[in-house]
Amino acid sequence: MDKLQHKRAQELKTVTEMIGIYCRDIHKTDGINLCSECQELLDYVEKRVAACPRMEEKTFCSACNTHCFAPNRRERIRMIMRYSGPKMIFHSPILALKHKLTEWFAI
Ligand SMILES: [Zn+2]
Repeated sequence: MDKLQHKRAQELKTVTEMIGIYCRDIHKTDGINLCSECQELLDYVEKRVAACPRMEEKTFCSACNTHCFAPNRRERIRMIMRYSGPKMIFHSPILALKHKLTEWFAI
């Protein structure tokens, strides 16, 4: 797997996990299946990440200035990240740490 593919996979994994935490806590789902609203958002994010033209230079889609996310989706994903970000530290410390490092150093 090349570096770019790895980055895409890493980003998707983090986003999937964050949406999962949010959906389970806020929408009271079982933690395995997402509600239709969150599933739809995740599908959207997957498409955006797969099509991202700036994968190499940017950090995360949530921290990117390209605005390839429609404003309402962007707002939702930011809300989810604000909620789930701090919780990720407990759920999966390594992934959360990687997310932070990616944001800070764009590795
Ligand atoms: Zn949900």
